[in-house]
Amino acid sequence: MGSGTTDVALIGAGIMSATLGTLIQHLEPDWSIEIFESLDGAALESSNAWHNAGTGHAGFCELDYATPLPGGGLDVSKSIAINEQFHVTRQFWSALVTCGDLPTPSAFVNPTPHVAFVTGAEQVSLLRTWYAALRSQPLFANLHYSDDPAQIGEWSRALVERRTPGEPIAATYEASGTDVDYGALTRALTDTLVERGARLHLHQRVTDLRRDGEGWMIEHRTPTGVATTPARFVFVGAGGGSLRLLQRSGVPEANGFGGFPVSGKFLRTRTSEVVDAHPVKAYGLAEKGVPGLGAPHLDHRTVDGEDSLLFGPFAGFDPRFLKAGSRLDLFRTIRPGNIAPMLTVAKDNFDLLKYLIREITAPRDKQMRALRKMMPAAVDADWEMIDAGKRVQVIGRNERGHGALQFGTELVISPGNNLAGLLGASPGASTAVPVMIRLLQEAFPDRYQGWTQPLRELVPSLGRSMNTDEEWALEIRRATAQTLGLGGA
Ligand SMILES: Cc1cc2nc3c(=O)[nH]c(=O)nc-3n(C[C@H](O)[C@H](O)[C@H](O)COP(=O)(O)OP(=O)(O)OC[C@H]3O[C@@H](n4cnc5c(N)ncnc54)[C@H](O)[C@@H]3O)c2cc1C
Repeated sequence: MGSGTTDVALIGAGIMSATLGTLIQHLEPDWSIEIFESLDGAALESSNAWHNAGTGHAGFCELDYATPLPGGGLDVSKSIAINEQFHVTRQFWSALVTCGDLPTPSAFVNPTPHVAFVTGAEQVSLLRTWYAALRSQPLFANLHYSDDPAQIGEWSRALVERRTPGEPIAATYEASGTDVDYGALTRALTDTLVERGARLHLHQRVTDLRRDGEGWMIEHRTPTGVATTPARFVFVGAGGGSLRLLQRSGVPEANGFGGFPVSGKFLRTRTSEVVDAHPVKAYGLAEKGVPGLGAPHLDHRTVDGEDSLLFGPFAGFDPRFLKAGSRLDLFRTIRPGNIAPMLTVAKDNFDLLKYLIREITAPRDKQMRALRKMMPAAVDADWEMIDAGKRVQVIGRNERGHGALQFGTELVISPGNNLAGLLGASPGASTAVPVMIRLLQEAFPDRYQGWTQPLRELVPSLGRSMNTDEEWALEIRRATAQTLGLGGA
């Protein structure tokens, strides 16, 4: 390829591209990086502060990460794995703050305790089982449990005020939880990338990816026409736009995948007395019969120094894959290779579709009723409805080869073809660092060995489990918490 070829092209300026670019700039400072973004700034889609809930997912409050075991009890291995992943993320941010690549941590991460909150005798019993399964794990040693309304009220007044006396409730509380402004983080990382020589092309939508020798020719629409840029390696970090671009690239690893868009809304309040009553993030359990789209949560947020509460998400259906997308997005991703799994998913998930259509047309008082289950004293006038980001749930194949809706994140890596991409949305931005490190390992197998030492300077626990009470792990946790200005460890 010619001398004008960029070493790495990042498509999309969200948290994933910003994280991958930052890792690469640290490991290979001489590599050229170009970022192509269709909108007029970084972090305007899912990574924007108001388009997600800003939870630093660490398994402290997400009850749906646990799955029932056949003989009784719960399998909590996913909660532990996600907590470990978030420790990788925290270490990376801490290293960047120390070397001046990220600003004062409170600009993007703030201590916000995580609470799991349930109502009704059945849910209380489940929470007790969940707590019993986790409390012996070193990473969850500081988790507290209570079914005493007075104690829960100390954690969050909003959860108990005007609640019917005698209603069974229970909660767990973890002081070291976080609220993250992924938008501010993405912009700060992108600014540093650009300061160090990366080129950010705004208003440039990538429309095609064609093989070009060992690398790729990227076709992008500029404000004045169509241009092409050659690249040795391409990362498709286009969020909801990734599936279509991966399909255009023709890499075999993208075959068979489809996408199912889910739109969302949040209720938000900035009324200070209401916000002050809930200084935590509280996650509940989805009601029985509601398809697995995540539990309701009431989140304390800190964005641009201002505190607020978000409640939701309220899901809905819209065929667009991006907020700034087209109503044809869903149909444009239908291919001979994914039509069978997509039809299976449509047939098997008809209830989900009906639920989403019902939800998007739900009247305001139904949404307020959902909020009052968590915050009984909520008053309509304090709350406004805002649009959240889009999630494109991955449609893949299950172990039996049938089409299945997946709720996680799927890395698509084509090492021989120098291309990688990311599909899916959950647990999302909080796992960007471990996911992008795995991408480096799988997409650059020949180089990764040489990168492990510099990576360990950024992430000291690399390759080791943090779920231990040995001194080295505690020391890393304490040091990271201190640098990031977070409580606990
Ligand atoms: C309702 C909701 C709540 C969430 N809550 C949380 C949470 O609490 N915690 C958490 O960790 N995660 C959460 N997530 C997930 C998280 O927001 C996403 O996983 C994450 O932001 C995805 O980042 P990204 O970089 O992949 O995509 P994005 O941030 O969407 O960035 C993709 C970028 O690519 C650009 N683009 C698209 N197509 C093209 C193209 N063809 N050419 C050029 N540019 C293109 C877009 O304009 C956009 O800027 C939530 C998501 C949603 C929707």
